[in-house]
Amino acid sequence: MANPSLLILAGDGIGPEVMDEVKKVIGWYGDKRGLAFDVSEDLVGGCAYDAHGTPLTDETMEKAQQVDAVLLGAVGGPKYDVLDFSVKPERGLLRLRKEMDLFANLRPAQCFDALADFSSLKKDIVAGLDIMIIRELTSGVYFGEPRGIFTEGNERVGINTQRYTESEIARVARSAFELARKRSNKVCSMEKANVMESGVLWREVVTKVHAEEYADVELSHMYADNGAMQLVRNPKQFDVIVTDNLFGDLLSDAAAMLTGSLGMLPSASLGLPMANGRPKALYEPVHGSAPDIAGTGKANPIACILSFAMALRYSFDKGDEATRLEDAIEKVLADGLRTADLLGPEGGSPISTSEMGDAILAALDASL
Ligand code: NAD
Repeated sequence: MANPSLLILAGDGIGPEVMDEVKKVIGWYGDKRGLAFDVSEDLVGGCAYDAHGTPLTDETMEKAQQVDAVLLGAVGGPKYDVLDFSVKPERGLLRLRKEMDLFANLRPAQCFDALADFSSLKKDIVAGLDIMIIRELTSGVYFGEPRGIFTEGNERVGINTQRYTESEIARVARSAFELARKRSNKVCSMEKANVMESGVLWREVVTKVHAEEYADVELSHMYADNGAMQLVRNPKQFDVIVTDNLFGDLLSDAAAMLTGSLGMLPSASLGLPMANGRPKALYEPVHGSAPDIAGTGKANPIACILSFAMALRYSFDKGDEATRLEDAIEKVLADGLRTADLLGPEGGSPISTSEMGDAILAALDASL
């Protein structure tokens, strides 16, 4: 059988630096676990604009549609700020998300014990935290029509429209239930059914999909404002949270920050299953291209490496190997190794991007 295929789009700034460490990890799985991938690489963002005058060529888009998973570093940088909106680096990323129809955005909030002091919340509230927020990504109020700024009488009015079809809700609900089955089998759906018709429909559809297809998964519903409160009060009560585009935007940012540094946060965006049963998938760290530290060896590669762990779990059904990688990262952190962004106010001596990658490889070796 052919090896699973990966397209690496390292992008700009620290993207290629953190992706170099992911490539080492991919190589390790091929050498030591018999898990070989067919890896191809291409350009996205500013570097693609420099080479081709567009942040994503049609050829690269086509490759992304063909592979089992795309791994992306980061795009953007001050050099490109002057470009027309239509060719800005971020447009490359938006095109990938749109044309691959990546409607389920997975944002884990996982707190490594060694970094629990980094959270703005008390250590006992976040230590061991491991939750997953699934945000609907391609519909809702950011896309609904009518939208715009109009004139009514003698004043202007700004309008956006929250709009969800039953099938849009059902497909993201299925993603949540499928994920829950790979975790602790628990989903909490959040909306505002008390004040929004779209919320009423959301709750009805999630309930129906659950009853007909996923009755083995525990389902609860919560108003999104209460959800925000509960996330800060007692985040460990949750496993998988599924919510719409707008609430998910806010809730996933709040939850992610429970765990500390931007350099630690992975994400996945998933679409419908392909012919081979794997979902269309793009994995990327939450952070950007960090031009302020690009080229200095200070970037933390963990967010990007954790994004590859998500690929192992959600695209390749290798949850045990994903856990091995997460445990290796936990061990390196517990040993006190830190990139510069993970040093607390007391300071210490940071290790470089590649030293962090090497330490994770050593911990992987030790896991055998
Ligand atoms: P950023 O995430 O790049 O950086 C914010 C801060 O966090 C910086 O101080 C940076 O040094 C630090 N940081 C980020 N990632 C880090 C890592 N892995 N290790 C250590 N420190 C890290 O956000 P920004 O500065 O607002 O944006 C910079 C560029 O990135 C812009 O061009 C922006 O448009 C782009 N951007 C891209 C994406 C993406 O590709 N998905 C996301 C956000 C921003």
